[in-house]
Amino acid sequence: MKEKKQVKDLKNCTPVMKQYWNAKKSYPDSIMLFRMGDFYETFDNDAKIASEILGIALTKRANGAASSVPLAGFPYHSFDQYVHKLLKSGYKVALCEQVEDPKLAKGIVKREVVELLTPGTAINSNFLNNNENNFLSSIYIKHENIGFAIIDNSTAELLCGETNVNNLKDIVKQYKIKELLVCESQENLVKKYINFDLLITTYEDWKADRINSYDKLLKQFHTKSLKGYGLENNDLAIIAASACINYVELNSFGKTKHINSITKIDSSEYMHIDSFTIKNLEIFESLNNNQDATLINVIDKTQTASGSRLLKKNLLKPLKNLKKINCRLDSISELIKNNNEFNMVYEALEQVSDIERIVVKIANNKSNPRDIINLSTSLKVIDLIKNIIKPSMKNFCKKINESNDLSKIINIISKTIKEEPSVNILKGGYILEGYSKELDELRDISKKANDWLVAYQENERSKHNIPSLKINFNKVFGYYIDVTKTHIEKVPDYYIRKQTLVNNERYFTNELKDYEDKILTAGDQIIEIENKIFKKLLEEILFYGKEIQENSKILSEIDVYVSNAYIAIENNYTKPILNESSNYILKKSRHPVVERLLPFGEEFIENDLKLDYKKNQIGIITGPNMAGKSTYLRQIALISLLAQSGSYVPAEKCEIGIIDKLFTRVGASDNLAGGESTFLVEMNETANILNNATNKSLVILDEIGRGTSTFDGISLAWAITEYLHNNKKCKPRTLFATHYHELISLADSLDSCFNLNIEVQEYKNEVIFLRKIQQGGASKSYGIHVAKLAGIPNEVISRANHILRNFYDNKTAFNDLYKEQLPLFNDEENISNEKANDLLNELKDLNIDTLSPVECLNILNSFKKKYDD
Ligand code: ATP
Repeated sequence: MKEKKQVKDLKNCTPVMKQYWNAKKSYPDSIMLFRMGDFYETFDNDAKIASEILGIALTKRANGAASSVPLAGFPYHSFDQYVHKLLKSGYKVALCEQVEDPKLAKGIVKREVVELLTPGTAINSNFLNNNENNFLSSIYIKHENIGFAIIDNSTAELLCGETNVNNLKDIVKQYKIKELLVCESQENLVKKYINFDLLITTYEDWKADRINSYDKLLKQFHTKSLKGYGLENNDLAIIAASACINYVELNSFGKTKHINSITKIDSSEYMHIDSFTIKNLEIFESLNNNQDATLINVIDKTQTASGSRLLKKNLLKPLKNLKKINCRLDSISELIKNNNEFNMVYEALEQVSDIERIVVKIANNKSNPRDIINLSTSLKVIDLIKNIIKPSMKNFCKKINESNDLSKIINIISKTIKEEPSVNILKGGYILEGYSKELDELRDISKKANDWLVAYQENERSKHNIPSLKINFNKVFGYYIDVTKTHIEKVPDYYIRKQTLVNNERYFTNELKDYEDKILTAGDQIIEIENKIFKKLLEEILFYGKEIQENSKILSEIDVYVSNAYIAIENNYTKPILNESSNYILKKSRHPVVERLLPFGEEFIENDLKLDYKKNQIGIITGPNMAGKSTYLRQIALISLLAQSGSYVPAEKCEIGIIDKLFTRVGASDNLAGGESTFLVEMNETANILNNATNKSLVILDEIGRGTSTFDGISLAWAITEYLHNNKKCKPRTLFATHYHELISLADSLDSCFNLNIEVQEYKNEVIFLRKIQQGGASKSYGIHVAKLAGIPNEVISRANHILRNFYDNKTAFNDLYKEQLPLFNDEENISNEKANDLLNELKDLNIDTLSPVECLNILNSFKKKYDD
């Protein structure tokens, strides 16, 4: 976000520019969209920025005595299309509208800023991704703790909690926060924790006050205490939450009715996953920009936008409570067991629109009649599902019975709005006949006047014998009679000329004017009455906003169960068993994403796992490059995450003793831009694990120590393993993949440490990857073989083989290797070709006729010795 300062001398400006600068004064850090007739204009610096971001022409506008100001604008109907680009680029947008009818204005039209749009509070559908939340977060820091609130103003979801300040970065990354709100004195402190690009907005310190904040929340949620929300003693969270609401209120000029509830995030209820893990496991985004390779892409079969958003939140916050997890899993089982009902619920969900966002649009006066019909159709789905499910589907029945009876709202909508209304309120015609007597009468007048127009046109045509005579309408002249020049002679005296065009003449008559008044007055009145009825309807709907949002949440939960059941059937997943043991047992498990992406004809090889706190706490996995170690590790992490978020898993059998924290140190996640080296990042992540893992955690380590010298790396890996094994407070179930075969011997000295390796077979100098995990350590790395597969030149490969053999035979020390005569590298011919050529030349020189059989054998033997090396 760039700083922009625009200070102007108002004396010499034109009146309209004076009005602009006066409005702009209060929004120095926002781009101001200034409504002028059918256009939104930007001026001065704003115009330069807007023209660059939006790709619109930069021109000039007169600005009083001999000066001009840069100008860039776009038509008002393209507002959605353009404004989201400004928000996406990290700018705030102040919307300055004409707030009086230009026809009635004395002097220049009155204009006021009516809305401030920001990346974190936007509800504009073009800016939002349907299946993703758009979160703004507010933070309040005290010592080492923070209160945080997270709001999606487009869905009215408000979450809050308190945590250690070190988790700030995780919160911002996990929730993909678009804008961070913080009081002025804490801005610099926050920036120490957030060392990446993020829009930070500040507010005055005096507003971060516990008493005012508490009162604000009471007023917002129409309650006498925050006990019901479990927030009574969370001063920091209360301050943060109140700041969020204040900010939305300020930007939307008071429209916050949609924010009707707050949810406390109690981190002790959820499995802890840090942002490294979310990133490394490629849950929502792939490390190499291949969206197909993400977990969410494979498992999201939800049919509603809010269901898709809920599924993502479930993955971010896997549960620790057995009862809650089993409730989710049992709901999925009920669907799988009742195939007919499952199919019918699946179809019913197709009719559900984004209820959450419709309610927010209603609260912000941005909804249209089509939204309201969609809302009513969606709400009806609750009853549809009620009628579909069987009493034996107990979890489902319980869930659906938690829903609110909203038949009153559904009935009001169906009695008010037509079934297929227009999206444009200004066109009218969307209120049902019979709803208002006054409206019906006006429509009748309007219709009759229209019928009269048709008849009048017909009559005038035949009376004057002008077949091409037409009655048309435009905004400037109203109704007029259009006659082509060829028939101009036949025009009667009572036609009054209005306009002459190249080929036509336009007229009106007194009679036509009388009807025009009738039609236009009726038309205006119709729209006014329809809008009044619509407004009243919106208020009635909003009165039930909280209940509607609650039903939407139930539909989203059902959608997530249905999606899970769909995937479970389609991809052959199983129901995991969760308990309080220290086990993690898998039979025939698979990686949910890799199994879907294998090339046609390749089969995913299933693997088992047995981890427990006693005998099998730490598994050291060795095996060649490309064997499948990383895949196996990630698969185990992903399965635990799926299971605890209440989903079926890709395995034949799965038993997991509840995991409190999942740590993964996999893949190279460089933070070079953040000033850290690859190895430092690796060690930071490992330190985080060693300092925070508990006996109930799951730790997945892939090649720890590889970022430094071999000896340092082995020593670190060795010591880390011992620490995880011997530390009484930090004995997590651990899987550690490594290329340091030296670590295999740890299993001899550490009781709960065991070896695993991934099977390969050698066949005719080739390595076949069997991808099967088995007990014991691996004997070889086959790194050079993989290098050959990757296309490393043969000279390099044979030299590497030579050096390797020397290491193994211990024939040559490091230094001696340098003294050796190095073969000359030649791009055209490689060493093996040279050897083959030498051999061929020697063979050519031999005269077989003169040699005895014994001499032949000796020569053969000498060749073998010579070329074996
Ligand atoms: P390196 O040590 O070089 O990092 P690795 O042992 O970690 O290698 P992976 O990256 O896990 O190997 O696997 C290599 C490739 O093998 C994967 O991209 C995947 O396509 C395939 N693969 C891995 N596991 C399996 C499996 N169980 N069944 C089928 N294919 C697999």
